[in-house]
Amino acid sequence: MTPFTQENEMFRLSLRQLVEREIVPHAPEWEEAGALPRDLFRRLGEQGFLGVRVSEACGGSGLDFWSTAVLVQELVRCGSIGVAVSVLAHAEFATKVIDRAGSEEIKDLFVRPAAAGERIGALGATEPDAGSDVGAIRTRAVREGDDYVINGAKTFITNGSIADFVTTVVRTGGPGHRGISLVVVPADAQGFRRSRRLRKVGCHASDTAELAFEDCRVPARYLVGPENGGFKLIMQGFESERLVLALICCQQMRLMWEEARRYGHERKAFGQPLLGFQVWRHRLADALTSIEAAEALTYRAIDLYVRGEPCNGEISMAKLFAAESCVGVAHDCAQIFGGNRYMEEYAIARLQRDSLAFSVGAGTSEVMREIIARTSGLEPREEAR
Ligand SMILES: Cc1cc2nc3c(=O)[nH]c(=O)nc-3n(C[C@H](O)[C@H](O)[C@H](O)COP(=O)(O)OP(=O)(O)OC[C@H]3O[C@@H](n4cnc5c(N)ncnc54)[C@H](O)[C@@H]3O)c2cc1C
Repeated sequence: MTPFTQENEMFRLSLRQLVEREIVPHAPEWEEAGALPRDLFRRLGEQGFLGVRVSEACGGSGLDFWSTAVLVQELVRCGSIGVAVSVLAHAEFATKVIDRAGSEEIKDLFVRPAAAGERIGALGATEPDAGSDVGAIRTRAVREGDDYVINGAKTFITNGSIADFVTTVVRTGGPGHRGISLVVVPADAQGFRRSRRLRKVGCHASDTAELAFEDCRVPARYLVGPENGGFKLIMQGFESERLVLALICCQQMRLMWEEARRYGHERKAFGQPLLGFQVWRHRLADALTSIEAAEALTYRAIDLYVRGEPCNGEISMAKLFAAESCVGVAHDCAQIFGGNRYMEEYAIARLQRDSLAFSVGAGTSEVMREIIARTSGLEPREEAR
């Protein structure tokens, strides 16, 4: 049974048309360029695809996460996974938290134009010395009059080179997670610099960069939520980020599986199609079982999330299983292509490469296992320590 409503399906249809018409033909050049053009954000914004979860007061549609799920699934269908990564980093990771916790002024300044596709956003959390351990970040924001003065560096930031604003995780208080805040840094702020565009193994259509903050001055009113209250906001944001990544993996696995099935019917060896060999029928049967299981876990987690139930463990299971399965399914689906698995002209070559990012982004598989352990009573009891 599908969890999607008729409204979701209508949304899917119009998005699918846009993806086929305006994304599929250009995805190869964006892979080459290493970033999406601004115009794509504008086109998606004009048609209301970037503000699906943004409140209506800020120019969005105020829909629930199922519409984001449709957005992810349809963008992934273009076959260039970086497209979905970049668009969702903008529409969901960088923007949703401002919509949820920002003042009316910063919503108007950043969320409204982001939903319209006029300003591109990025989320800046990871630093050269702190990734999984968000509580250890060192980028510091010091209050000076009506401003914050920010010093530090961020790395691996999706949309880093093209963003007009970065929702930035900074230290405003003491050590640990209680001293962390979120501040929006406009890209034209004095002292903000994009230090380097990073060359990735895959997801080439999404731009990834290192950022530097050198006495970077932003108005203190660009703070999102309470000062030193940023950690909770980031953890809440992680829930939807992980769901997005689980959805990307599920849809990507479907693409790879369909490619493998098609090739398995067409390609012959020893006088018969590859799918004439039981080993390939079984490998693709196993792959399909993993895809269905990953999707079921993901849909269950989304259902809990949309209903506002506690679901940190379920989200982590979905993200863990989908990301790990994606690597295995990528390998099996690529292997049937023989030498062609390694050739750029085959979509499978790009897809298997893109699959490597998801056991790391938005929380590694090891961190997911820690959360599952914590939420299911697996941590040693105090008296046993
Ligand atoms: C393509 C891509 C896009 C990204 N986009 C963004 C972005 O837009 N914004 C952003 O802020 N970040 C982004 N990131 C960064 C990503 O969130 C981090 O890479 C991730 O959180 C892991 O941090 P790290 O790389 O510093 O690894 P580390 O935290 O140094 O971890 C290294 C290894 O140690 C393991 N480890 C760490 N802690 C534990 C533990 N407690 N128990 C067991 N093992 C542990 C990890 O699982 C990992 O295997 C992106 C990363 C990639 C690859």
